[in-house]
Amino acid sequence: MGELDSAPRAAAAPRPGTDGATEPVWEAVDREQARDEGADGPAPPAPPRCPRCGRLCDRRPTYYGAYVLLEPGTRRAAHRVPAGHRWYLDPDGRAWKGGDVEPAAGGQCLVPHRVECPALVLVEPAPDPEARPAA
Ligand SMILES: [Zn+2]
Repeated sequence: MGELDSAPRAAAAPRPGTDGATEPVWEAVDREQARDEGADGPAPPAPPRCPRCGRLCDRRPTYYGAYVLLEPGTRRAAHRVPAGHRWYLDPDGRAWKGGDVEPAAGGQCLVPHRVECPALVLVEPAPDPEARPAA
């Protein structure tokens, strides 16, 4: 074995949550999670503005190295926010998405800006051409 073979490898970076570093193998997973969860806010030092409408938002880091834009100062009763749109903050300020788990009674959550962004339009499914007219 040569010197390079016996040299210690660079230590793999820890998963997000300790210093924000990310293992290379997880980068694609993290990007996919950010896309799926809508964590597409601009990273500092860019201002925390929505890239679609320009509104200033409450920007929070996620555990996967992306930033989510939340509606500022908006806490809502979690059971009134659709599943998949509930965000929570940990004491260190990192945001995480609650998923489809039913919230605890009386629980509150934060709302992502994209739910209320005036520049996004709800795309309704096209009518089914095979559907019969209502009687
Ligand atoms: Zn917006």
